[in-house]
Amino acid sequence: MKNPVGPAILVTGANRGLGFAFVQELSKLSFVDHIFACCRTPSKANALTELAENNSKIHILKLDVENDDDLKEAVQKVEKVLNGKGLNVLINNAAMLTESGAEYKNADRKILQQHMSVNIVGPICIASAFLHLLQKDSDKEKPSLIVNISSDCGSVKDAIHVGSAWGNIAYGITKAGLNQYTRYMSMNESNNHIVTISMHPGWLRTDMGTSSAPLAVEEGANSVIETLQKITINDNGRFMDRHGKDMNF
Ligand code: NDP
Repeated sequence: MKNPVGPAILVTGANRGLGFAFVQELSKLSFVDHIFACCRTPSKANALTELAENNSKIHILKLDVENDDDLKEAVQKVEKVLNGKGLNVLINNAAMLTESGAEYKNADRKILQQHMSVNIVGPICIASAFLHLLQKDSDKEKPSLIVNISSDCGSVKDAIHVGSAWGNIAYGITKAGLNQYTRYMSMNESNNHIVTISMHPGWLRTDMGTSSAPLAVEEGANSVIETLQKITINDNGRFMDRHGKDMNF
């Protein structure tokens, strides 16, 4: 089995938090040639721009995960850079979680719909648009990966242990939906040697995870990247934590 991570990787929500840490850590790996770092407002992505200025592997692309025009343009740009080669890894990382408007007692239709749109519809449309590139260089020995960044909040079985059921319920519902999508993709694309997994990255100190989180974001990103390098076709459809341990659906 070959290391499935690289040479070409795409990350959404790459301007801050876990997405930025993925780009930062992936750019240090010698076997990674291209990192497509997607964000919705490149002009405001200062840290990412600075990182890319010092590393020619990093290509910053505008991609609001709700915007089809952005998606179309991003696919064209990736195709141009890859010049006939395939994409090896897609990391569906971008997501949202609001402080209010998504509680079961205070449900705001627009806010609920936005969670669905960003956290589920976005990853589905992005994987769909990049599927031909993910299929291109994948084989049994070196499958391509779709990594859906999920959360322990997406576990139906463990909902009782995870506090969000009493606060923002849309977030956990969307991550549970994302997990179901992982299972569907794992069945549909296994013949094309595409492995789809859901990954809980741990509770991390980011804007979403808050400063109370126990883990530095780089630590989370690094352990996810380490685990991804060991993924094989046998992992297709799994929901795992950052160390590769099974999570309950
Ligand atoms: P942050 O809130 O810190 O960052 C979210 C990222 O998603 C930002 O880059 C943001 O971009 C982007 N984003 C949001 N909406 C869109 C959109 N419409 N189009 C494009 N990008 C968008 O979150 P984290 O870094 O903490 O989370 C990363 C992933 O990890 C998420 O999937 C999250 O659910 C998951 N996760 C995080 C945990 C944690 O403890 N932090 C725990 C479990 C899972 P912008 O700056 O433009 O808003």
